[in-house]
Amino acid sequence: MLDVEGIRNDFPILARQVHGKPLVYLDSAATSQKPRQVLETLREYYEEYNSNVHRGIHALAEKATERYEAARERVARFIGAAGPQNIIFTRNTTEAINLVAYAWARPRLHEGDEILLTPMEHHSNLIPWQLVARSTGARLRYVQLTPDGRIDWTSFLALLGPKTRLVAVTHVSNVLGTINPVREMVAAAHRVGALVLVDGAQSVPHMPVDVRELDCDFLAFSGHKMLAPTGIGVLYGKEEVLEEMEPFLGGGEMIGEVTLESATWRELPWKFEAGTPNIAGAIALAAACDYLDALGREEVYRHGLELAEYALRRLQEIDGVTLYGPGPGVARGALVAFTMKGIHPHDISTILDQDGIAIRAGHHCAQPLHRWLNVPATARASFYIYNTCGDIDSLVQSLYRAREYFEYVLR
Ligand code: PMP
Repeated sequence: MLDVEGIRNDFPILARQVHGKPLVYLDSAATSQKPRQVLETLREYYEEYNSNVHRGIHALAEKATERYEAARERVARFIGAAGPQNIIFTRNTTEAINLVAYAWARPRLHEGDEILLTPMEHHSNLIPWQLVARSTGARLRYVQLTPDGRIDWTSFLALLGPKTRLVAVTHVSNVLGTINPVREMVAAAHRVGALVLVDGAQSVPHMPVDVRELDCDFLAFSGHKMLAPTGIGVLYGKEEVLEEMEPFLGGGEMIGEVTLESATWRELPWKFEAGTPNIAGAIALAAACDYLDALGREEVYRHGLELAEYALRRLQEIDGVTLYGPGPGVARGALVAFTMKGIHPHDISTILDQDGIAIRAGHHCAQPLHRWLNVPATARASFYIYNTCGDIDSLVQSLYRAREYFEYVLR
């Protein structure tokens, strides 16, 4: 079990008040809060050894380079990658997916090729492929979902074939909470010669993820959802696949020899890191990996699941609440999306905010999924290591208040 009280003490922001009430932060799927241990690495970097990496031959540059490259090794270990050559630092999940779309997909795909997606993808794992389809003539195909928002395995196998070049799938849905059977999907995709990109934005922060066990070709995730700052993300790629790819962005850092006419590229992973990277962000991401590993990734997952199950149970008690995604008893991510009859999710969020409770309302960058759910928007409460069942009780109490208010106003 996690020592949640001890954990909460590491997060200075959790001590603040919002509208005169203690903050109840239930929006970690959008971005997580940051512990002192991570914030301290930022202060240390900027106050003690701020310097550019790779280029300088002086003490500060050497320390910055050493810590930046050590961070890469730390991230590799965090996801079970073979080594630092597999880890490319990006700004976020979105940039990592676009890197694959531009540098792997665009030069390789043609008319007749297919990219297999699901209707539960975040726009970040949808728009890049729409752009690829537009420029190459490749076709996007969509797996069907079961009524409770899981991948229909029969549909997946039926769509997978010799034309499939890539399967791009989210590991955990940021709306439904569904955990997709990525390992089985990778095995099936590889049997037809397709590569698989896993969007790990909602899985890597919350559960053990091992790329060698999954055998995925690419994994993308963001630091800011796993205790690290914004502006640092990761693309994991299999070495042989990354080796075959041309660079995504050109500029300093990623070159070997440059003449006026041409250039050679540096070896992996620097070939894909043009320009000065987010040095402090990468170092802070390594500190976030340390923090999560010290808690135990399995423990982190179990805590999130317990909170999600408790939230499902409590929310079900409220008349007029509809819940989305797999029901209790099914493994799921640490979030719950819901609607309340007669109250728009934005109004729910506004009323909750008055009680110091932060949730998210809207389409959560998953418009096609909301079309499939047949609602324009949902409210989403999402949890992390610093949340308690008490936070969910506060949410439920505030939802009752929202209903009373609307019943009064509409009467
Ligand atoms: N994929 C999923 C499943 C997400 O939840 C998110 C963030 N909401 C993203 C991709 C995009 O992450 P970022 O904005 O950090 O690039």
